[in-house]
Amino acid sequence: MRLRFGRRSIAAACLAGLLGGCCGVMPAPVDGAASKGLVNVGDARAAATHYHDSGAYDRDLVRVADAARRWVEKRAGQVSHPALVLDVDETSLSNWPVMKADDFAYIRSGACDSLPAGPCGYLAWENRAEAVVLPGTLTLVRAAQSRGVAIFFVTGRGEAERAATAANLTHAGYRDWTGLYLRAPGRPTPSAADYKAPIRAVIEARGYTIIANMGDQPSDLAGGHAERTFLLPNPFYRIN
Ligand SMILES: [Mg+2]
Repeated sequence: MRLRFGRRSIAAACLAGLLGGCCGVMPAPVDGAASKGLVNVGDARAAATHYHDSGAYDRDLVRVADAARRWVEKRAGQVSHPALVLDVDETSLSNWPVMKADDFAYIRSGACDSLPAGPCGYLAWENRAEAVVLPGTLTLVRAAQSRGVAIFFVTGRGEAERAATAANLTHAGYRDWTGLYLRAPGRPTPSAADYKAPIRAVIEARGYTIIANMGDQPSDLAGGHAERTFLLPNPFYRIN
């Protein structure tokens, strides 16, 4: 229900509040159901949008990717067959257009032909191969490759999206990666970590030393098989 106070009423209410404060009158208690500390979803959406639009998100992404770059540049020459593992979504590519169009909802299926308006199905979006580069990660990758570090992308996207994902990474500027691992069909795991950590073990079994693993979800990084981990900010969604 919308409140119908006009500007004048609001001003009068504010004045009364100020006067009340001067006179030491306590505000009347508000009756209602407490939400027990739960986040208000509307407030969270507004805060997430401001975090993105203010530029703070981009700055935080670059700060983490730069820390990873400094570590990789230092470590690359000290180990045999160094490797860098990267997640794809919100790590190497940004899906901000669909997050904004869907107002932070996750709509898996359905068309995505009304951008910038939603709704937009994520599978259709990913097959458009239009996710945009995250510049700090591309800088990290190029610095790593210049020092002989192999790049492995490990993503929870399905194997059916391999061609679109590879095309999107290429359009975004990534080149000459050594491996792109996608999830095989019909093999769900309780957590993304239960799928990604064993893949890192496979990469190690191929003779590589994973000197850094960077992702936007804790589940990208859990389970070991990397010398150091780097967590990018993502207040927009959670993948357990
Ligand atoms: Mg991700």
